[in-house]
Amino acid sequence: MNTVPEYKFCPVCGGSLNASVLKSGEPSRLVCSSCGFVFYQDPKLAACSIVEVDRRIILLQRSVQPQKGKWVMPGGFVDRGEEVKAAAMRETEEECGIKTRIKDLLGIYSYPGRVVVVSVYLAEYVSGALRAADESMDMMLVTPEEIPWNDLAFPSTVDALKDYVARKKTNSLNREDAKDAKKEQ
Ligand SMILES: [Zn+2]
Repeated sequence: MNTVPEYKFCPVCGGSLNASVLKSGEPSRLVCSSCGFVFYQDPKLAACSIVEVDRRIILLQRSVQPQKGKWVMPGGFVDRGEEVKAAAMRETEEECGIKTRIKDLLGIYSYPGRVVVVSVYLAEYVSGALRAADESMDMMLVTPEEIPWNDLAFPSTVDALKDYVARKKTNSLNREDAKDAKKEQ
């Protein structure tokens, strides 16, 4: 997911691409020696969902490389022109067979030298029968305590789930505080 081939030819005219620095301080760009087309190698955006079903969340076991056999939340690449939230919901439906509703953006996860930028939403179950499909060989519903930290697929999976668990703790502490404040009144 994070390695891209070196492009050799211009996608516009088929001329050869050469790396050159166009602006000092910026990375070198692939520039066509024939027509001058600049091939900007942009990040790739992925959209994932942490889907809550009752008090558990959905994890999928990857059936394809990279990280085959490891666990992830439902998600995949955003298509050009597609709304990011729509991509998150589409991927969940493709991979788990269910419709979801996006509740909130949990975070955006990116790493130096990595091509993929991962957006992670909090979502809730709406309808449909849960099943593992597409790029998954298995599925499980886990409580935050049951998350298999040593078998998660990507750094973004670990970081997003850590943020999710931290947010859950903060929310339940806030609820406890609110209860205590009521009692004291
Ligand atoms: Zn060209």
